[in-house]
Amino acid sequence: MKTVNIHVYGIVQGVGFRPFTANAARRHDICGTASNKGSYVEIIAYGSENDLAAFTDTLRYSPPERAVVLSVDVKELPLRAYDDFRIIESEREYGDIFVSPDIAICEKCSKELLDPHDRRYLHPFINCTQCGPRLTILDNMPYDRERTSMKGFPMCSICAREYTDHMSRRYDAQPVCCNDCGPQVYIIGTELRGLDAVSYVRKAIAEGKIAAIKGIGGFHLCCDARNDEAVLRLRKLKSRPMKPFAVMMRDMDTVRRECKVTPEEEALLTGWQKPIVLLERLGLSEHIAPDNPTIGVMLPYSPIHMLLFDLPDTYSISDALVMTSANVKGAPICRTDEDALREISSFCDVIMSHNRDILIRADDSVTQVLDGKPYMIRRSRGYAPLPIMTDKTDRIVLGIGGELKNTFCIGKYGLLYPSPYVGDMEDIRTADALLSASERMCRLLEAQPDTLICDKHPGYNTTAIAEDMAHKLGVPLIKVQHHYAHVLSCMAENRRYDPVIGVSFDGTGYGDDGTIWGGEVFVCDIREYRRVSHIAQFRQVGGDLASREGWRIAASLLSDMPDGKGLCTKLGLCDEKAFTLIEMMKSRGINTAVSTSCGRLFDAVSAILGIRRASTFEGEASTALMFAAEKGSASDVYPGRLSDTSALVREIALRASDGDNIYDLAMMFHASLADMITEECIAARDSFGINTAALTGGVFQNRLLVRLTRDKLEKSGFDVLLHSQIPPNDGGICVGQALYGLFT
Ligand code: ZN
Ligand code: ZN
Ligand code: FE
Repeated sequence: MKTVNIHVYGIVQGVGFRPFTANAARRHDICGTASNKGSYVEIIAYGSENDLAAFTDTLRYSPPERAVVLSVDVKELPLRAYDDFRIIESEREYGDIFVSPDIAICEKCSKELLDPHDRRYLHPFINCTQCGPRLTILDNMPYDRERTSMKGFPMCSICAREYTDHMSRRYDAQPVCCNDCGPQVYIIGTELRGLDAVSYVRKAIAEGKIAAIKGIGGFHLCCDARNDEAVLRLRKLKSRPMKPFAVMMRDMDTVRRECKVTPEEEALLTGWQKPIVLLERLGLSEHIAPDNPTIGVMLPYSPIHMLLFDLPDTYSISDALVMTSANVKGAPICRTDEDALREISSFCDVIMSHNRDILIRADDSVTQVLDGKPYMIRRSRGYAPLPIMTDKTDRIVLGIGGELKNTFCIGKYGLLYPSPYVGDMEDIRTADALLSASERMCRLLEAQPDTLICDKHPGYNTTAIAEDMAHKLGVPLIKVQHHYAHVLSCMAENRRYDPVIGVSFDGTGYGDDGTIWGGEVFVCDIREYRRVSHIAQFRQVGGDLASREGWRIAASLLSDMPDGKGLCTKLGLCDEKAFTLIEMMKSRGINTAVSTSCGRLFDAVSAILGIRRASTFEGEASTALMFAAEKGSASDVYPGRLSDTSALVREIALRASDGDNIYDLAMMFHASLADMITEECIAARDSFGINTAALTGGVFQNRLLVRLTRDKLEKSGFDVLLHSQIPPNDGGICVGQALYGLFT
């Protein structure tokens, strides 16, 4: 007989790892203890050599479904006998910490929820060791009930028995509860509670009303996706004329009826994270996603959502519901009843809340499948704060992120932990949310940053916040150039730290020379970068307006041509008066910036082709241009390097005015850009001997451009790094910042 000490590292908290260990121990005749050390599970195991080996193999190779085992360390201890296997009280220890993300309701809980003979029949908070909220209800580590939002709900005797019974699926499940002891849903401003409240909301939705519903990571605004009147009313109330709404569908059958779904997309939809997945649309009203061939779809991921669809009452409800984050434009998603009353009560007819507190916001994650692999657009609920591994260091840093789509990232030792989505920073409420969320995450991960990292932009609110924080903490602040941070984020998720050619194509970022950057090619590693080329500079006339109104960029680009004015009016970009004004502002430098933003170039081409003259939300014009290109056929490409992008745009304008097919021209723009990038990378390879290219930045959300560019680069022999788990857009900036911080 032997006694050993086993440390299991990885996502072993809040995923039923200790009960699983206890069951495995009994199967293998092992006695001893298991305890949760915050960063790992410690097991003292006593048994025969063979049994111990089999037991360790089980821990290593067949852990519970939701667990991620990174390593299992075994050390022999002085012989000590045990006569049973017990889970013992957690003691705090320091080291790498793995906080579990929130987990969508599992199949077994879904069945029990709708089983009239089950004691948790229709319980809106049913969960088990394999499912339920985690990060959003966690107040402190280690993960134990008294350190979660469940501390106010003492277990009833039956739940307590399941909680301590090795054979139960709820053994050691911290949020376990039932109809007798769990939290309750209620309608704000009424006496309606529990299932009466759910029924009330179902009735409202069936009648075409708009409901705000508190879920896992915040409130949603919800209405019948099949009721155009309701959808249009929600658009009007939210001042959101065009931006697509996400739709929650009752089940996969509904999804298959309304959308085209590949097996990879189905796997993403039904996985334990249950993100929003962008799918090709077959049905549903145009108003859900105007002028857009795709829609964002998710399946019910909490018991509350399932009850919305399936509560057996007298109302019949649609199998497709709009579910959009409940917030004021620019502000973070509502988390508390006070938030909801103050900010969204004018957007809805009824608010259903519940009394299990959300401690940290987590918007729905948004992803898509690109050639069989996930390609993240917003990494939040279900994913955050799962870490990305990097090389071991002894440093702790905080990357504060960018200004739009803000997320922050804690880098600790060898791990990078990206936060859930925070939001756009121009709103003071979002800035407050960033402060409180970063404080909480630092506490959960026991991270006292020794360095802060932010963007170089002097006008960003995140820069001011980081300066203030660094001052208060008494630690240094490093500023990292925006587009270099994008490249670093792509290197980080690919675990590649050797020099790369970084193609950072983006909206707007502050350049080292004070101009606007966003179409950059760098040669860089994780310590330094050199800007080796960029798209042709142009004048961005009209300040902030230029980032929403692509026709202004187009007019500015075309004004250098012999008959720019005639061309602009012929293409319907603007009238003569507006053209003259732009020309004058440009020549005198009034409200005009020098720019290499590739995002703005897409907006300009979108306007030139008459697809979108302006955008009502970020990325509208450029996404519409991509959809148009996907309808076009491969045509010739405009030859050249990135310095020829302005000439390319002018050529497209001329051909458009000659009546060429706009879909083909949109395709030609994409293909030419991919070609120019490849030429530029070949030139960089010739000069620097680097054969790896990383594609990053918001422009590479464009799946067509990703495919075309990757294919051309690979044909030219490049090793191409793409994003998958970290968004190419500004939601990924923080990861690049944190990587840089860890290794400087
Ligand atoms: Zn479950
Ligand atoms: Zn109970
Ligand atoms: Fe960016």
